[in-house]
Amino acid sequence: MNIKTVLLIIFAVAVLLLVLLLIFQKKRKQKGKRSKYIDALYSLIDGDRTQALSFLTTAVKQGETDISAYLLLGNLLREQGEPEKALQIHMGLSVRKDLSSKEILEVQVSLADDFASLGRTEKAIKTLEKLSKKSRSKEMLFKLHTYYHKLQDYERSTEMLRELSRYDSEISKRTVASYMTSIANELYERGNVKGSKELLDKALKIDKDCPSAIFFLGKLATEDHDIKKASKMWHLLLDKDISYFEDVKRYLESSFYEGGDFDAFEEMLKELIDKNLNNAPIAVALASFYNKKGELGKAIDVLEDNIVSFNLAPYASIKLAELYIEKGNNRKAVEILQNVNFDERKRYYYKCPKCGYRSDLPLNYCSNCFKAVSFERSYENSNS
Ligand SMILES: [Zn+2]
Repeated sequence: MNIKTVLLIIFAVAVLLLVLLLIFQKKRKQKGKRSKYIDALYSLIDGDRTQALSFLTTAVKQGETDISAYLLLGNLLREQGEPEKALQIHMGLSVRKDLSSKEILEVQVSLADDFASLGRTEKAIKTLEKLSKKSRSKEMLFKLHTYYHKLQDYERSTEMLRELSRYDSEISKRTVASYMTSIANELYERGNVKGSKELLDKALKIDKDCPSAIFFLGKLATEDHDIKKASKMWHLLLDKDISYFEDVKRYLESSFYEGGDFDAFEEMLKELIDKNLNNAPIAVALASFYNKKGELGKAIDVLEDNIVSFNLAPYASIKLAELYIEKGNNRKAVEILQNVNFDERKRYYYKCPKCGYRSDLPLNYCSNCFKAVSFERSYENSNS
């Protein structure tokens, strides 16, 4: 081997090393750009959206080519209250020619969200409707449901929910009927009583046992002095779920008292108490009934019969004490009152456990946060 060959070999090796070094450096450089996007994803996993936003901005400035990075950047900006910027970014993506069909879909869904955030609900609907002609996803149907609701197009918003119930096992017929009841309540509050009733009848056609719809129809019948219908609704409701008694009580009393149908009321309460022993609210209602009729002894007996369980229901004890005072037995009244927890709060309303939306009805669907939830009884002077 002469010196020339050795030099040639050294030269070849040097060139090879140089090429390898260049390739390696380029790769590292690419990895450097890429890593900001990855960093952003990690920040999202940690729940740090601000940090994620800053990483993504850097990634994009450095010429990030991944479409997901732009999509995410736009979505984060919208969530942080900058829907206009989000719209710009997503618009930019929508004219790119190198998108896969999945990416096209994602971009359009993001655009619809941007429009919705900007209050351009109709445009959001149009965007989604156009997409849904090709493929309908659960997410899309749910969004359409909420957007139509915002435009007060209740027929379509209900239609979307019904269609969703075919795809999503969590959305049942009960959910649809409960949603319709919450709409009926909105119509009622706006003075459209007729529309409200029609909607409730439709809701019962979808789910004949929907408790909130039955409750509302009972309430409306009471207001209409339609004692027969009211009584039918209350029976129906309480047969299914006695825990509604507390909610129904005031309507029950006014239904029967107005109709002068005292015997039917007594019969109903007795029947209920036989089926539901130790139920304080029913016992108190029956005792009050006897008291109003002037049958003080019977009233006291009803409560005394159930006194053991009343440690949990202070207002039953208060009622009993009241009756003893009326009877002239103050000592007995004091004895009972000494054991009562006076934290009894009577005025109540209902509220969504998710968003706190208030209602006069125990609804099963919140049209404020669009969740199928049972409204909880809440007390006016409660701190919680
Ligand atoms: Zn809610």
